[in-house]
Amino acid sequence: MSAGPAALPLERLARLENFGHSLKGPAYLYRPERIEQLNDLFELGRRQGLSITLRGAGRSYGDASLNNGQIVLDLRALNHILEWDAQSGRIRVEPGVTIEQLWKQVLMDGWWPPVVPGTMFTTLGGCLAANIHGKNNWQAGPLGEHAIEFEALLPNGKNVQCCPKQNSEMFYAMIGGMGLLGVFTSITLQLKKVASGDMKVKAWTQPTLQGMVQSVDENKDADYIVGWVDCTASAKGLGRGQLHRAEYLKPGEDEHPSETLQVEHQVLPPRFFGLVPKAWLPLFMKPFTNNAGTWAVNAAKYFANATIGNHKTYRHPLVAFNFLLDYIPNWERIYGGGGLIQYQSFLPKEAATDVYLDMLRLCKRRRLPSYLGVLKRHRPDQFLLSHALDGYSLALDFRVTQSNRLHLLALADELDKMVLEAGGRFYFAKDSTLKSDRVRKYLGDGVIAKFRKLKAEADPDNLLQSDLYRRCFIA
Ligand SMILES: Cc1cc2nc3c(=O)[nH]c(=O)nc-3n(C[C@H](O)[C@H](O)[C@H](O)COP(=O)(O)OP(=O)(O)OC[C@H]3O[C@@H](n4cnc5c(N)ncnc54)[C@H](O)[C@@H]3O)c2cc1C
Repeated sequence: MSAGPAALPLERLARLENFGHSLKGPAYLYRPERIEQLNDLFELGRRQGLSITLRGAGRSYGDASLNNGQIVLDLRALNHILEWDAQSGRIRVEPGVTIEQLWKQVLMDGWWPPVVPGTMFTTLGGCLAANIHGKNNWQAGPLGEHAIEFEALLPNGKNVQCCPKQNSEMFYAMIGGMGLLGVFTSITLQLKKVASGDMKVKAWTQPTLQGMVQSVDENKDADYIVGWVDCTASAKGLGRGQLHRAEYLKPGEDEHPSETLQVEHQVLPPRFFGLVPKAWLPLFMKPFTNNAGTWAVNAAKYFANATIGNHKTYRHPLVAFNFLLDYIPNWERIYGGGGLIQYQSFLPKEAATDVYLDMLRLCKRRRLPSYLGVLKRHRPDQFLLSHALDGYSLALDFRVTQSNRLHLLALADELDKMVLEAGGRFYFAKDSTLKSDRVRKYLGDGVIAKFRKLKAEADPDNLLQSDLYRRCFIA
């Protein structure tokens, strides 16, 4: 009888979490420093009979980069900027380069990433695997539309180069493919030319969700638009909120572009009013992170926004507009030990107002109101596992506690039905509750079959898996 593989060293075991700290699990963690090590690590997984998850900065809200009891490859050390052409705005990077590294490299030359998430701490590998969208999704599309090409190592041992015209099936499947087909080893992006490091921002309130949705559509000429939605207000006010529209400055509008394009101009002060460190905010906020406290904070925020500075236009650095929350270290800790989950659904424009209102009402009836709601506008794209459509998304943050965890799952199940009935979609980077039958419904049998065929070719041993993969594609 032959001996099985030697067990992996215990010191490799690490306790990994999702961004919201609501899911935790051990995994054997490896941190390659050179692309050439990836093949050996794939071989290690095969020898051990263990699956492998690729992980960037681990900032997905759900279980996309978790792999309970198996192997996880942390790719953050593959973080070299390989080529930068300040004339054309083309950049080629390793997958562990973060959005923060990227903008710090290019802004002085007058360039900016065309699509960014709400945090700059994510890696480009993770962002391309999720095919992230920004607050400009209906204008700029997802990140994948700005990828000129990428190189990837597949578990079958092949190195492939993909662009819309070469290996195009893999191009449209790996982008948005959540690291299940192969590992990006280099990514080439076309960046956006900017004439200033500032944006022109306008903020205003709307007393109803209908008004919020209408406002978003009326402002589709903006470069960015996003709405904060109050999901705790009572009856008539449920879904009211504040909108922010933002525009890039045109050449000549900024009198001092050489100053605003500096990194120093972008970095916000670490203290409120020069006194209170922003790092303290989670401590102040924690006692209010319950149903009654959030109702009060949201009401105060809404009424302050509706009076002070309503409809004012101001200039804001690109970084401050796009990544405001990053300046409050560990803000997600206000949700306490159970952490948080986010439920982001995408609805066709015709259905959005009514269905979102019904969803918010249901959350309140179940005594599980979302403490933060964010409304965005989207348009469809051609990627295989796309989450986008011609309509809106509403991202809802929920606090998780030991006593509400099962109720939240039941609520998500009810919300899923409403979204699917309205022809809506979901997003793997945020999801932690979907089941595989629901995934099949929104993606369709044809898409799932195509994805499985590509996976069988690229990854015949089914080496690349994750907790999300087993939950959404296998179970
Ligand atoms: C505060 C906050 C705000 C956010 N706002 C937005 C937003 O506005 N829009 C949006 O779209 N998303 C948003 N997100 C989600 C986030 O952008 C995505 O989850 C993104 O994928 C996280 O990148 P990461 O580097 O942390 O990747 P991880 O979370 O570590 O991994 C994400 C996926 O990428 C895969 N992967 C990682 N590296 C590679 C690689 N080299 N090759 C192949 N696959 C790989 C992983 O296997 C996993 O499936 C937000 C997240 C946070 C925390």
